[in-house]
Amino acid sequence: MILGVLKDDDDRVALTPDVVQKLTEFHEIWIESGAGASAFYADSLYTDVGATIASAEEVLTKANLLVRIKPPSTGALQQLGASSVVISSFQPFNNPEIVEQLSQYPLTVFSMDMLPRTTLAQDKDVLSSMASMAGYRAVLEAATHLPRYFPMLTTAAGSIPPAKVLILGAGVAGLQAIATAKRLGAVVEAFDTRPAVREEVQSLGAKFVEVEGATDDKDAGGYAVEQTEEYKQRQQALIAEKSAKADVIITTALLRGKRSPILITKETVENMKPGSVIVDLAASGGGNCALTKDNDTIQYQGVTIVGDSSLEAKMPMHASQLYAKNIFNFLKILTKEGELTIDFENPLIDGACLIHEGQSHFKVPQ
Ligand code: NAD
Repeated sequence: MILGVLKDDDDRVALTPDVVQKLTEFHEIWIESGAGASAFYADSLYTDVGATIASAEEVLTKANLLVRIKPPSTGALQQLGASSVVISSFQPFNNPEIVEQLSQYPLTVFSMDMLPRTTLAQDKDVLSSMASMAGYRAVLEAATHLPRYFPMLTTAAGSIPPAKVLILGAGVAGLQAIATAKRLGAVVEAFDTRPAVREEVQSLGAKFVEVEGATDDKDAGGYAVEQTEEYKQRQQALIAEKSAKADVIITTALLRGKRSPILITKETVENMKPGSVIVDLAASGGGNCALTKDNDTIQYQGVTIVGDSSLEAKMPMHASQLYAKNIFNFLKILTKEGELTIDFENPLIDGACLIHEGQSHFKVPQ
């Protein structure tokens, strides 16, 4: 097949030279000139391993499989030849109208965010790769904004107590944030509605904060589900109490296909210590803090609130490397010796396919 890569919408690139080198065994690779530059992968690194550097138009005309991180533009989709394949992340759970929009094109589309989160999917799971980086980076962002130390220090000029960090949502991003905050020497507490994560939180050296009576749906594919009003009120009260003592709060709580739950109200922020920092990784889903502004950093009564759902893009070199490796592993089940083999018996192919030859293949989650 001819695989095409365009310049993406942020500094990452969908395929890196190491992965391109492996793919050239069975595929021809066309890369838009400068596509990897912001991630520090120069055009020459791609040509060295056998790729062809070309204009975006040439890539779209040649490619019969386009790989992107962010969804390609409608203009790009129109330029692709009939029966081409597109791999990206279209967020159909949050943006269901995308299914009809994409059905206008005679294409087959895979949306990596739809991949079932099973053990077999782990090496293809772009959500996990990116969430883990975002969790790490969230702590670094918080440390940069924080007007104080993270670790406990005993100096000749006096003692510094460790920073108190509260992590809301202990999924992939939250667990990496716990590990990073611990490495920097903070005292960490974490909260999640899924009791299954308690042991993971504790094994990383953080305290697990629990509100009794959470709804945990075994059929939700491991994802969290919406909680009752009564639970939400008790949860907000406990978070308000913990927030007043925290120096840093990192929020990562997402609900698939729904607005992110508000865990930190305006009043809770008003009771936080001046100088404290909130990093809201759920910003694109509406935010876990009522005051979050997506893609913006604001100050509210001395509290810095960072709203950013793709902090991984600030580390484009490794984010591209991991994304590319996930795509390489996905291509191993999507192609055989260079030929496309769409096998819907494979639950990963079936789950990730959004459009098959112009027809919706989207299964609305329960
Ligand atoms: P996510 O990004 O959907 O959510 C982040 C965390 O927020 C989750 O832990 C969730 O429980 C929590 N959360 C949601 N609402 C909350 C609330 N009101 N209060 C507090 N916390 C709340 O989660 P994720 O990191 O993408 O992981 C989703 C699931 O997929 C998990 O069960 C995870 O273990 C599983 N998973 C499986 C694989 C795999 O095997 N391939 C890989 C990664 C994740």
